[in-house]
Amino acid sequence: MKKWNLIIDIEKCEDCNNCFLSCKDEHVDNAFQGYSAPQVKHGHRWVNIMRKERGQFPQIDVAYMPVFCMHCDNAPCIKAAKDGAVYKRDDGIVIIDPVKAQGQKHLVDACPYGAIWWNEEHSLPQKCTLCAHLLDQGWKEPRCVQACPTGALHIVRAEDGEMQEIVKSETLEILHPEYHTKPRVFYKNLYRYTHYFIAGSVAVEKDGISDCAQGAVVTLIKDSEKRQAITDTFGDFKFDGLPENSGTYRVEITYEDRTMKTLEVGVDKSVSLGTVWV
Ligand code: SF4
Ligand code: SF4
Repeated sequence: MKKWNLIIDIEKCEDCNNCFLSCKDEHVDNAFQGYSAPQVKHGHRWVNIMRKERGQFPQIDVAYMPVFCMHCDNAPCIKAAKDGAVYKRDDGIVIIDPVKAQGQKHLVDACPYGAIWWNEEHSLPQKCTLCAHLLDQGWKEPRCVQACPTGALHIVRAEDGEMQEIVKSETLEILHPEYHTKPRVFYKNLYRYTHYFIAGSVAVEKDGISDCAQGAVVTLIKDSEKRQAITDTFGDFKFDGLPENSGTYRVEITYEDRTMKTLEVGVDKSVSLGTVWV
């Protein structure tokens, strides 16, 4: 059977919050029988856009990572629920029953992704339903996906085998695989949020004039592995996707006939080397 999956491209998210607002528009003050009670107006984020700043001036970037209920196939919230108050539908969507789940506050702590919110007024744990009430009426996508102007959100209805092919071909990842929850939400370019970079700007002094060193060859070396970059018009280079706690890297820079410049860089966070003169 075909099941729903959500793909989020971190590279394309610009933190416009349209997804968050459309979720509020759909769910605040609206109850959908069998699916959800009204969402709390303030404070609850069924679409929670996390932000991370990397690097130091002048090489800084910011990544935005929308986090939803992952509609896990091995969901801890389902295991923790009493009386079948949380269940997985045949199409992959995980629903918190808005009647049976009343009073089950412990479900908030059962979700390792922090996707469940406690609605005090209705005494109810709540989360993203993937707008199942709309999909069941024939909608092709939930409100958040429809509202995203950059194409950062994409919904796919596919057999599990087909989805695995998409995961492979588009190099998608899941958030926190160590939780072993088998999420149905996948991320593209997740490194923008989870990994580090080394960046810098190469400059040169020629005939008493300072200039950007376009075309300098920068090599990043770690043990037997090497990556190479050529500086752009501004003399800039960037090596991204470096894993956390990956130790010290050697950066070698050569420019035209000038001697090689070597730097040792420890990566316990993203590092901006600033201007490197050759
Ligand atoms: S992300 Fe959390 S709330 Fe959603 S299915 Fe997984 S465990 Fe349950
Ligand atoms: S609508 Fe799209 S671009 Fe805007 S915050 Fe949400 S995911 Fe990001």
